[in-house]
Order: sequence, then C-alpha cells, then structure tokens
Amino acid sequence: MIDAFQREINYLRISITDRCNLRCVYCMPKEGVSNLGHNDILRYEEILRIVRIAVQKGITKVRVTGGEPLVRSGVVEFLSALGDVDGLSDISLTTNGIILEKLAEPLYEAGIRRINISLDSLIPDKYRAITRGGDVHKVLRGIEKSRQAGFSPIKINVVVIKGFNDGEIEGFASLARDNPYQVRFIEYMPIGENMDNNDFQHLSNDTIRSEVARRCSLIPREDAQAGNGGPARIFRIDGGLGEVGFISAMSHQFCSSCNRLRLTADGRLRACLLSDESEIDMKTSLRTGCTDSHLKELIERVITMKPRGHQDYHQKGARKKCVRTMSSIGG
Ligand code: SAM
Ligand code: SF4
Repeated sequence: MIDAFQREINYLRISITDRCNLRCVYCMPKEGVSNLGHNDILRYEEILRIVRIAVQKGITKVRVTGGEPLVRSGVVEFLSALGDVDGLSDISLTTNGIILEKLAEPLYEAGIRRINISLDSLIPDKYRAITRGGDVHKVLRGIEKSRQAGFSPIKINVVVIKGFNDGEIEGFASLARDNPYQVRFIEYMPIGENMDNNDFQHLSNDTIRSEVARRCSLIPREDAQAGNGGPARIFRIDGGLGEVGFISAMSHQFCSSCNRLRLTADGRLRACLLSDESEIDMKTSLRTGCTDSHLKELIERVITMKPRGHQDYHQKGARKKCVRTMSSIGG
C-alpha cells in the first residue's frame, strides 16, 4: 500500500485495551481513561480478521500495545494466534513490564521474540511518582525474566522529561552499556489533554545524545535493521553490551517515512497518531456482517486519509487537536 505521499504502509500497531495498571502522569489522568465496556472493544477474533485482511493489503509487521496489553485476559493465546497469520514477518509487543515476570516465558512460548518495555526511572520513588504508584522492582524483574526467556531484542523505552528524569540519562546509558538491551530515549509529545500543558517539557534528543556521548563512545548503526524502518537512530556503545537509540518525534519529525497504521481498542483504524480526523470505524462494519472486500475498502480509505505530517498538531494552541490520549490510541 502506497499512500498519497509515496510512503509504503506496512506496519500496524494494535491497541488491544485502553485499560492500564499504571497511570503515567504524561499519558493518563489519575482516574484513568477507560469508559469502554467489554462490548465496546474489539474481540480478539475481530482483530485477527482485520489483521488477515491488512496483510493481504501489504501489512507485514504488527506491534501489540495498549493501554497495557498484558492486563487483557487471553493475551497470550491471542499473540499465539497472531503468529499463525500467514504473511506477517514481525510481531512485537510494548508493555510497561509490571506483570511481565510471570508472563515472559508464556509470551516467548507463544512465539513473541521482540519486546519493548517502558521504564522512565530507575529510582523507586521517582518511578512511583511518574507512574502514580508503580513498583520499579517488578519491571526490573520482568526485564530480567525476559532476558532469561530468550527475548531479543529487548528494548527499553524512556520518555525523557525535563526536570524529572533528565538526571538519569547517565544511569540509563550505563544500563545499556552493561546489558544486552537497547535503551531508547523518546521525546515527550504533548498529546491528548496534555497538549497545552507546560508541566512536561521535552528535552531534545540532540541534548540527550550529547550527554550520553560525554560518557560513552557511540558507534552509529547504519544497517536497515538498526532502525527497523522506524524512526529511531541507533548507536552501539563501544566496549559495551547494548545500544542506545533516540526517537525524536518532536525535534526531528519522521512523518516523511512513516509506514504506520493504528488500530484502536474500540475498533477504529487510524492513519496518523496525532490526527483525530484520520480514523475510520471498523467495528460497526465488522458487527453488521460486512464482507472482507468491504474491510479492504475501509483500509484503502484510511490510507487516503493519512496526512503528510503532524506539524499542524504540535504548536501550542494549534488549530488541529488530538483529543485522544496515547493510551487510548495505542502508543
Ligand atoms: N502500557 C504500555 C507501555 O507503557 O509500554 C504500552 C502503551 S504506552 C501508551 C506505549 C508507549 O507510549 C510507552 O513507551 C509510553 O512511554 C509512550 N508514551 C505515552 N505517552 C507519551 C507521550 N505523551 N509522549 C511520548 N511517549 C509517550
Ligand atoms: Fe499505562 Fe503505558 Fe500509558 Fe503508562 S504509558 S499509563 S503504562 S498506557
């Protein structure tokens, strides 16, 4: 599938729930966001049907996310069924890691090999504050268990917020130096109700990179696999076991090479993370007996709605808004 701006669309991110066992301050309000009932979210069979059709249209990679995907019951069986879909070359998972310790092995047995774990602080009190109650030790045990289970790569996502965890860049660089992990520094994006909020200030990845480079010698990975066609710039740490990556949604927009679609938990196919206008409801069609060719047409229509970029959404007070939070879209 090629969109109007000559981008090949081959990657689908699937949010299987908008619920979460954490309440990260930059992602969710403290009371949570989920008002969706059981019947409002797509059933696993419905997601699998969309994936099978999307594969026929050219999707080769999927990432399962949320909310927190591991809190939805049946997730391991669902991932295993996803692995049986012909034509998918890459299935990965993004999790906050809170209940990963007990699920790492079953997930590996279900065929998942690539996992991203979000971890914004290594300091227990700070982690508890940013996640509103999370226990960092559980995440660290989950990461260790994933390593023992055989996951590779293990990517650790760190959203860097000025004045909050920017003092930990060195600690995260050491984590990547001493372990076979890829630690990815992600610029905070103002989205949802935080769009005009000044409390969370993003730190540019150029600044973060200079800080890491002061402590470790970084060797760029230029191979295609390094970025996996994605927006991260990846570096090996000279003499270390792991890598660091920099994802700069704000300072270096990667819209021109964006290959993604998103399927939200409530069954909307979305062409751009930040564009609320680029969504199509799939669920109603699925539940009113639509044909596969109708679903194909909906996918084609969404591709035509993919905007050139999301620059219109970033400015403070921007005319165009993205009202949905990352957790409800599927980050
Ligand atoms: N709950 C899972 C987790 O935290 O990994 C998966 C969903 S979460 C929405 C996916 C990723 O989006 C996480 O790495 C999270 O840090 C990131 N994220 C959420 N809100 C963000 C924001 N405003 N800016 C940048 N990244 C954000
Ligand atoms: Fe939950 Fe992930 Fe959002 Fe944190 S970032 S509140 S873990 S969905």
